[in-house]
Amino acid sequence: MYQEPDELLSNSFYKDVVNSLESAGKVIDINPNVISRLKYPRRAIRVSIPVKMDDHSIQVFRGYRVQHNHTLGPFKGGIRYHPAVSLGEVAALASLMTFKNSLLNLPLGGAKGGVQVNPNSLSKMELEALTRRFATEIGPFIGPDKDIPAPDVGTNPETMAWILDTFSLETGYSQTGVVTGKPVEIGGSRGRQSATGLGVVYIVQQALETQAKNISQATIAIQGFGNVGSHVGIEAHAMGAKIVAVSDVQGGIFNPNGINISELFRYLKQNRFVQGFPQTENITNEQLLELEVDVLCPCALESAIHEKNKQNVKAKIIVEGANGPVTPTASEYLSKNNVLVVPDVLANGGGAAVSYFEWVQDISWLFWTEQEVRQKLSDIMVNTFGRVWNFTRKYQSEKDKNNLRSSAMAIALLRLEKAMKLRGQI
Ligand code: NAD
Repeated sequence: MYQEPDELLSNSFYKDVVNSLESAGKVIDINPNVISRLKYPRRAIRVSIPVKMDDHSIQVFRGYRVQHNHTLGPFKGGIRYHPAVSLGEVAALASLMTFKNSLLNLPLGGAKGGVQVNPNSLSKMELEALTRRFATEIGPFIGPDKDIPAPDVGTNPETMAWILDTFSLETGYSQTGVVTGKPVEIGGSRGRQSATGLGVVYIVQQALETQAKNISQATIAIQGFGNVGSHVGIEAHAMGAKIVAVSDVQGGIFNPNGINISELFRYLKQNRFVQGFPQTENITNEQLLELEVDVLCPCALESAIHEKNKQNVKAKIIVEGANGPVTPTASEYLSKNNVLVVPDVLANGGGAAVSYFEWVQDISWLFWTEQEVRQKLSDIMVNTFGRVWNFTRKYQSEKDKNNLRSSAMAIALLRLEKAMKLRGQI
């Protein structure tokens, strides 16, 4: 009998993902062999990354690429640079990518990568050296037809450009399709940078509609003002929503009359953190999660809403911009208490969708306008929300009428089950 490696089992995020998978399998009659296969990643690559630092010392960093499943197409998923990166965390994120891509009907599997490093503590030269060496180490396992990385926490289009360049140098010709989320000038897609945040906002609109509300009258709090959270802010603000609070790793800011997001952007060009922005009151990240708002968007890291603070959440809608920000038990508690929790695999799927669009544009050498990208993104998010909502109405019991998480996972599993059967895997 196959045993889960201790490193995976001891990671609570990984265990949470496996629990969600198992409970979704019970909503519908899924072949148990599908669950058995999907509980374990297909392949986990662990590398050491020696970097010559600016002071000529050598520091060795730990890196991972976990390829979870490729039944539906090439592996696909981001790369995270963060001091807390571990094999268990990367494996959990890789699994979520498999379910997300399946749910969104994309022809892609799931993967994720990570390096245990605080990118803010390295100089640009050191960061480039680290990225290029990591790309060399995982090089034999990635490629436009094999596994396509993208940005995640702590990485950005520049990181992707370095990976693309290193990979192309090693294969001897330029292969822009090896990564997504790269700069537009070297094969990136228009609209990719804002895609995850914009996708979250399309989902916020849909969720509000189910409560007969309109985004132009809604109040929103956003935890995490990075790539995802800042674009949620810009796009929701542009649609007339009142953004009353935002935060970053240092803490948050609050103004009950709404924060001027464009001014905040200008402020952040000179200042690294949001606290100190004029006409706002400082709050903690914990206080932000407990504000009385229509919509709460946790867009930072996993497990922000958990066993101990779940009772204090007052928002009636939570849209998971981050991966895993609400633990499964907290999510179940909130759903049963009439809070609509839109799960990560649906809510932040806009990044995966436009990554797929970018990959398609790269391999066809034909590029789309930003308008086309936004329209196609809206279609995919609205359609997927509708499928999850209708599935919930049809298959969930009265007590689970808000449980979009297990519905989304169940839809993803049904597609994977069909594909596995056709491929003779089960
Ligand atoms: P990012 O690094 O650009 O931003 C992260 C933000 O969270 C920053 O503002 C940071 O200061 C803040 N933060 C970090 N630790 C925090 C803490 N402990 N408390 C509060 N805030 C904290 O990362 P990102 O790309 O915006 O990703 C955020 C989340 O969204 C992650 O869970 C990621 O996996 C998920 N996600 C990202 C994408 C994408 O396209 N970038 C796509 C799908 C999902």
